[in-house]
Formats: sequence, C-alpha cells, structure tokens
Amino acid sequence: MATPKEMRNQMLAEKLIKNFERRNMEAYFCKTAAEATEKALELIGEGSSVTWGGSMTIRDMGLTKRLIEGNYDVFDRDTCTDPEKLQEGIRRAFFMDWYLASPNAISEDGQLVNIDGTGNRVAAITFGPKNVLFIASLNKVCQDLESAVKRARSTASPINAARFDIKTPCRMDGTCHDCNAPGCICSYIHITRNSGVKNRIKIILTEEELGF
Ligand code: SF4
Repeated sequence: MATPKEMRNQMLAEKLIKNFERRNMEAYFCKTAAEATEKALELIGEGSSVTWGGSMTIRDMGLTKRLIEGNYDVFDRDTCTDPEKLQEGIRRAFFMDWYLASPNAISEDGQLVNIDGTGNRVAAITFGPKNVLFIASLNKVCQDLESAVKRARSTASPINAARFDIKTPCRMDGTCHDCNAPGCICSYIHITRNSGVKNRIKIILTEEELGF
C-alpha cells in the first residue's frame, strides 16, 4: 500500500505530466534513479551522440557512466582538461542528438527554470541539439513560477557557487545578493514555458531525491 507521501508524489507527477504535455513536452515518472536511468537509455538509443551540461543529478544517478561505457558518441565536459577541446566540445553540443541536463526548479504548471553563468547550457536547451532530456526529482517542484525562480536563485545557485568554489557573495554566506560579481553564475535566468518543436524537450521525473 502506498504511503501518504507516495500518494501525493504520484498525484503531483500525473499533474505535471499533463501540464508538460500542454506545453509540447513529453514527460515520464520513475520511482527510482535506477528506473530513470533505464528510461533515459531507452529514449536515447544506442549510437546517438550525447553530451550534458555539468549536472550533478545525471552523474550521481550513474547515467553518464553508462553512456560513456556504452555504444554512444559522448562528449564529457566534466573530464575534459584541455581548454581548447572543452570549448570545441561545448560548441559541438549544438549539433548533437541529445543534450542532458537537470533543471534548477520546476513550477507545478510545468515551466522549467534554469540559471546559467556563461549561457552555453541555456542556449543548448533553447536551440541546437535534436533532443533535450531533463532529469529531475520532485524535490525541485515549486508551487508556482515565482517560487521556482526563487528556489533556483536562493538554493541551487549558492550550492553551485560552493560546488565550483566561485568567490561570489553567496559563496560566503549561502544567500543570494543579486550580484554582478566576476564569475556570477546567474547571468541568465531562463524559463522554458513551451517546447517550440513538439516533444524536443523531454522530462523524466523521479520520486527518489536527486541533486539539489
Ligand atoms: S550572489 Fe550572485 S552568483 Fe550568488 S546566487 Fe546571487 S546572483 Fe547568483
């Protein structure tokens, strides 16, 4: 028998899937990270070219490892140490079959919020790769767009600043100061309210908590 939390999550996921569909996006709900990994591999298909935008979620769930070890044409920006090759790989992302990411927040009505310092991630989400696959756990879902933007700025960005040890004001006290400091990771606040190409954007929601 489902717990009250599981019942609530199931209802929330069903509502989100419908709201994503209304916005030309295709969505799925998986209970665990392991199930989400299998679903992602089923969608991507062997032989595809794949890259990603520095997401903890997709790395922690083991998806990047499976892609690197499998029959895929992968560019892994996280292990690329040559600055020239890194820039080349980031640009190549626009011509690839799949771009993987995890949103910083989601509103219950199905809008995705992504914050970016240099802009390559939000650019690839908007246009370029044939498919964009987001993986996100339900802990990133907020009641409305305003609270989703707040979550992205007050939770995800300070954690990312700490993760990359960028000397922004939020790195010092964990709170956003609406800065324009060198290395600011909030240059672009991007909202996906609709997929311009039907089903180009896909979302796998998970009940298991992933990322931050
Ligand atoms: S302090 Fe600057 S880098 Fe940190 S969350 Fe706020 S705007 Fe972003």
